Amino acid sequence: MHIVPEQPLQRLYPTNLDQVVESVNRAINPPLGGQPQARAIGSHWGISHTGVTTGYMIETATPVHEADGDQTAKRLNEPRYDVIPDCLTPEALRFFYAQNVPAFNPAVMPTHQEIYLFHVEAGMRIHELYALLDEGDAGKGKRSLADLMKEQGAGNDYSGPWALETMGGAGGQTIAGAFSTGTHGGDVPFGPLGDAVLAVHLVDADGEQHWIERTRLRPMTLPWETTMIDENKLKARFGATHDHREIQYHQDDNLMNAVAVACGRMGVIYSVVLRVVRQFALKETISSPQQWSDVKTWLTSPTAPIFNAIPANRFVKVDVSPYGGFWDPSRHDCYIVTRVLRELDAAGKGLPLGRAERGWNPGKGAPLGKAYGFFSRACSSDNWIREALDVSLVQIQEIRVKAIKAWLVAAAVIWFPLSTPAMKLDALATQQAAVATIVWAALYIAAIAHLIKHVISPIKIGFGDTLAAIANFCAHPEHFPIVWLPDLFPVFRAVYAYAFDAEHDVDPGNPRSPAISYAVMDEHDYLNVSCVAPGDSIEIFFDATDPKLVDFIDLVLIRVRQLENGELSGGPEAFGGYISLRFMAQSEAHIAMQKWPRTCSIEIAGLSRVEGTEPFLKRIEADAVDFRAVLHWGQRNNWSMKDVEGVYVPAGPWGALFKWRAALSELTDHGRYDVFSTDFSKQMGLEITDPIVGSFSVAPTEGCANEQTTIAWEAIRNPPETQAFLVIKPEKGNPTRLPLGTLSGNRSVTLVAGRSTFSLLLERELNGNIYHDQRDIAVRGFANNDEWTFTFTAEPRLVDGISRWVVEINLFSQFISNTLRVTEIHCTFAGVASWILRNPDVADLQFTTAQNHHMLSSLPVFNKRWLFFSQSPASPGPNPILQVVFKLVCQH
Ligand SMILES: Cc1cc2nc3c(=O)[nH]c(=O)nc-3n(C[C@H](O)[C@H](O)[C@H](O)COP(=O)(O)OP(=O)(O)OC[C@H]3O[C@@H](n4cnc5c(N)ncnc54)[C@H](O)[C@@H]3O)c2cc1C
Repeated sequence: MHIVPEQPLQRLYPTNLDQVVESVNRAINPPLGGQPQARAIGSHWGISHTGVTTGYMIETATPVHEADGDQTAKRLNEPRYDVIPDCLTPEALRFFYAQNVPAFNPAVMPTHQEIYLFHVEAGMRIHELYALLDEGDAGKGKRSLADLMKEQGAGNDYSGPWALETMGGAGGQTIAGAFSTGTHGGDVPFGPLGDAVLAVHLVDADGEQHWIERTRLRPMTLPWETTMIDENKLKARFGATHDHREIQYHQDDNLMNAVAVACGRMGVIYSVVLRVVRQFALKETISSPQQWSDVKTWLTSPTAPIFNAIPANRFVKVDVSPYGGFWDPSRHDCYIVTRVLRELDAAGKGLPLGRAERGWNPGKGAPLGKAYGFFSRACSSDNWIREALDVSLVQIQEIRVKAIKAWLVAAAVIWFPLSTPAMKLDALATQQAAVATIVWAALYIAAIAHLIKHVISPIKIGFGDTLAAIANFCAHPEHFPIVWLPDLFPVFRAVYAYAFDAEHDVDPGNPRSPAISYAVMDEHDYLNVSCVAPGDSIEIFFDATDPKLVDFIDLVLIRVRQLENGELSGGPEAFGGYISLRFMAQSEAHIAMQKWPRTCSIEIAGLSRVEGTEPFLKRIEADAVDFRAVLHWGQRNNWSMKDVEGVYVPAGPWGALFKWRAALSELTDHGRYDVFSTDFSKQMGLEITDPIVGSFSVAPTEGCANEQTTIAWEAIRNPPETQAFLVIKPEKGNPTRLPLGTLSGNRSVTLVAGRSTFSLLLERELNGNIYHDQRDIAVRGFANNDEWTFTFTAEPRLVDGISRWVVEINLFSQFISNTLRVTEIHCTFAGVASWILRNPDVADLQFTTAQNHHMLSSLPVFNKRWLFFSQSPASPGPNPILQVVFKLVCQH
């Protein structure tokens, strides 16, 4: 569990769907003084602030924060049988009916062609999940898909164990917490865990429920002709909620690929449907030590044998030592760990090499016997470090003995009467070197003795803290009470190298594999508390074929030296951690870190109590940003929005972040419902950026100058921080900007004289950037005797029973004010001798070339019908053009 200073206002522990909805609603409408903010949370393993909220924390797993919390109380970790199989469509049922699934035979090499669906609540921990899958899903008294197939007499057999396709290096995360940050393993053909999620049941920021599912079972298979889940059955199953809202059904890959990695921003995932495969075993091989200088020559090659082996390496990991040994700091050992698929029986069929030793006790014990995982062997006791120090001590003592012997031999040469002067000179030089070595060795021996007696012995906690103490002591030997201080980093390097080699040591008498899938994949030792020490970790992702990957690791190794030299912080510091590379396939999720067909993750983790860890990881994070590499959402991640947008394209229509934000828009009413918006999501730009004007109107748009007009606006479907302004821009002169205060409403505004533009301007500030949308409307405030000119081509039409040329100006517009009155009309025309004007408020008027204008003393309302027709019948020839100028005055 990662603990941060920011604590939530309240932790809520829903145990079923209704309580999840209730929890979200409580966060949306908190009691007085509460902050309307929430985050779903799983195991709290995330290191970044992805799961941090100061509002309501919706806990889906055990109440790890409550000292007296009942760790066995009900939580969201049940398998579900109410949607699968009951709500499957006939097409989906036919698929599972027709799928070729022979009875599980552990002696047969799995093909992983068969698929099974497993539906679980989101707070289930991964080790619970793989344990359940391993038990099989038939005959548990719950009518599972496996049971249904059996009932229907299908020619297949879904009983027997199932397994996760891939998983990370530990099983303590919850399933939803893990995939929400892109958690992955090192399985070359698979993306992160989220790619195997076929559907989610999510409660959004308005408390509304959504069922979101993919269009296909596997990326390469044909999409369903219909759907996997029957919408009507689903709706019947979940009914209308208390506020009469039905669950929303979406078969939408875009939405699914957004929710699959969303850092909790889209809502609370209540449950998850997973694609699972037949149980299998893995055989692991650890290479003999290699040198980074060699490994880097082939690592990024697409033809590297490690990625092209037969049988294929399902898993590939390269561990790189950040340190050389005692003598050579630039010699970096590497171990290459590979795993191949095996039939389950390869994991052992009975004692003594049976499943009990091979992890058949998932999540409850040591993963495999006693030793595995980075430093897990070392974790078993701090004695182990003494052992490493003792080895160094013995080596140095041997060096001292050799030096003493060399001094004595040289002394003999000097005193021997027959020695020539040249021989004596050589012997003197040897003696000098030997003395230097003896003093050096004595200092180291004293330092190591001091280290053992005064630094290690008082520490009772175990390996992590002991290693941290050694690292800190070696970086700051000023605490060592002698005058001349040796460089003690070699001692730390020696301890580290010992641990690094030991971790990759394979015990031929008790090999850790072949073993059942999860026992190999889950490297976490749940029982070994001696290893528990606060850590910090960053994971950086590159295209595995990009030479920049090697450049970056070279830089990391340089940074280790710089840290030791005091170049990265105030003084010399050590880095107590590891560098581990894993390889995986591209993800379908929009903002997953796995962006390339072969993606490499570089995990660099260190003990927090080693004083060099923080400055080191900080520097590495900055380097990763400079390389425009990708950071793990759930590990150390202090990206800015600019960094995120540099990695995930925000521009539409194809940009990854654009698509992710489009999904967020769909689920949050374009950001209007923002209860899952946190400091982290804002910092990262996992937010709606561009506001959208819903509607904007001005009525009237044409009226008298200084008359009141009404503007009405609606922009409620936007993030609540959005600000609305009315900008009035006269044709001549400076614009004015009026804050509107709310995102919808109406208001009286004075029309300014002349033409101007009224604009509804929306502004949304995020991380110093202003995003806007604007809708413009042209308006005009008439002064007395301002003119309004119309030009029309006349059409023939019957008027008073005769076909004449007609121009009809039929106003009656809500946008024209009735305060505008007509004082004079002026007509310009050709091809027609005279025009008659007909208007309900004035008697017919005639316009000829001689009398082409009339004053209207009755000042009729302009916003009416003005009918002009030729006095004579329409004659053959071109349609005449009529220009009418209304001179207007204002009469309120
Ligand atoms: C010992 C250790 C080993 C690790 N090994 C690996 C590894 O091998 N590979 C790897 O890629 N990463 C690894 N990580 C990183 C880890 O997998 C991620 O941080 C993961 O997200 C943690 O899962 P969690 O259940 O603890 O989630 P939390 O830390 O509790 O939450 C993580 C995110 O998920 C969201 N979330 C949680 N539950 C829900 C829900 N129900 N609905 C919606 N959102 C939700 C949260 O809001 C948060 O944003 C490791 C971390 C540790 C500490």
